[in-house]
Order: sequence, then structure tokens, then C-alpha cells
Amino acid sequence: MPTCIDMAPTPEYINYIRFSPVWQMRRIQALDRAGWVCETLGCGGIEGLEVQHIAYDRLGSEQPEDMVVVCRDCREEAFDRILENRPSWVDRMDSAMG
Ligand SMILES: [Zn+2]
Repeated sequence: MPTCIDMAPTPEYINYIRFSPVWQMRRIQALDRAGWVCETLGCGGIEGLEVQHIAYDRLGSEQPEDMVVVCRDCREEAFDRILENRPSWVDRMDSAMG
């Protein structure tokens, strides 16, 4: 299983994203966690939200921190910026979990 995010998606990955009910569930959970807004710091956009993998190591058994919710605009931004902004939601998640 490739773990590098720069690699082209494998057929397994595409199948997983398209057809797996498990992924659909995780996707909704990620969106719920984000409150259905973009998680990029200072954005708060709600258009064209997508759940994007930050890490692929646990593909199929993702942890919340492996994913980030981004809006259409932010998805087009450099991925680096999304990663840079990640602490904002990590903090939020920690406090939500108490
Ligand atoms: Zn955004």
C-alpha cells in the first residue's frame, strides 16, 4: 500500500472512496466534526466541501486526524497551507473530546 500522498491513486483507493460504505460513514463523521465548514484556518467556507486525506497510512481504518475537511477554494490551494493550518482543528477536537 503506497503511503505517499504525491502518488497517483491506486485502483484500490478509488474503489474505496467511491464505493465503500465505511468511507461514506467516516466522511460524514469528519464533516460533522468540522461542523460542515471548511477547516482551513480563517476560511469557514461551506461550498463544495470535501474530506481529504492527510495521511494514507491507515487507509480503510482512518483516524480522525488522518482527514481534513476543505472547501472547493481551499482544495485548490497548496496542500502545504492546509497542513499548516491543521492545529486549529486538532485543538478543537481535543477540547470537544474533553
Ligand atoms: Zn476553505
